[in-house]
Amino acid sequence: IANRATQITRKSLESATDLRMIAKYTNGYDNVDVKAASNLGIVVVNSPTESNWGGVAEGTMAYILCLLKKVREKDRHVKNGGWRDQSLFGTYVGSRLSDGYEGLTIGIIGFGRIGRKLIKRCLGFEANIHVYDPFVNKQIIENNKCNEIDFTDGLVLADFISIHVPLNKETENLIAKEELKQMKENCILVNTARGGIINEKDLVWALTNKKIYGAGLDVFETEPPLKDNPLFQLDNVLLTPHNAALTLECRKRMAVETCENIVYYLTKSDLLNKNNIINKNYLN
Ligand code: NAD
Repeated sequence: IANRATQITRKSLESATDLRMIAKYTNGYDNVDVKAASNLGIVVVNSPTESNWGGVAEGTMAYILCLLKKVREKDRHVKNGGWRDQSLFGTYVGSRLSDGYEGLTIGIIGFGRIGRKLIKRCLGFEANIHVYDPFVNKQIIENNKCNEIDFTDGLVLADFISIHVPLNKETENLIAKEELKQMKENCILVNTARGGIINEKDLVWALTNKKIYGAGLDVFETEPPLKDNPLFQLDNVLLTPHNAALTLECRKRMAVETCENIVYYLTKSDLLNKNNIINKNYLN
């Protein structure tokens, strides 16, 4: 048994000569060398239960609404004795998600399970949504009432960007200084996917120099983040401890799903392939 961030490398897999299966009690599997496991005949499964995707989508909505409506700032303002004074029309003025006169454009990077759940919720707010996912057919994106967009155009256009891609060689540092420079000054960036997709040092630079308005992070390059992480000093970032999806129901479902995977594997059940095996294309 390892924790979810433990790096399962080719070397460690090769030394575990009796190992037949890795059953992850998480959705992401970026800490496992899946290619090496496949070469060694080791099955890798995860537990991407619906309550996890839905939970992350709701957690992301919490970030969106809190940051857009400046809930923290207003709370601090009132607790400091403030009320409906002039400052409310500067620092404390919020924005609307709804499309139209004052509506915002949301950019979603990754049109997978979580990205789609989030989109459904944002559509409920009548938001204007642009999606970047080169692995999904444009028609499918448009059928879901979103616009397909090129990566760079999305960075430039969006008022709010939310990341829902796996961490891998292609997505590591997907958002670094050059990308942050292209975003709007009022842009809010949220990452509930994996640390490392946004370059943290560059994000600190962008937040400190007000290149973007703010950020919300559920995930970090190093978890738990080190005590001297400069993000802790910033007011324009909202941080949570990699638990965007956390509900008791979700934990239970994930635990049951992990156990089911092990039973399915041991009983050679076809069900093992049905929901949880990694690399299965869930999407189309
Ligand atoms: P998913 O596999 O269903 O969807 C990922 C999507 O990303 C796919 O549509 C894929 O085509 C797209 N994609 C891959 N590479 C891309 C790239 N380079 N550019 C643009 N799009 C790309 O995954 P999911 O279930 O939606 O989860 C997304 C990620 O969220 C997971 O990989 C995991 O790391 C993370 N996650 C975090 C938490 C949490 O607690 N914060 C919980 C669950 C999952």
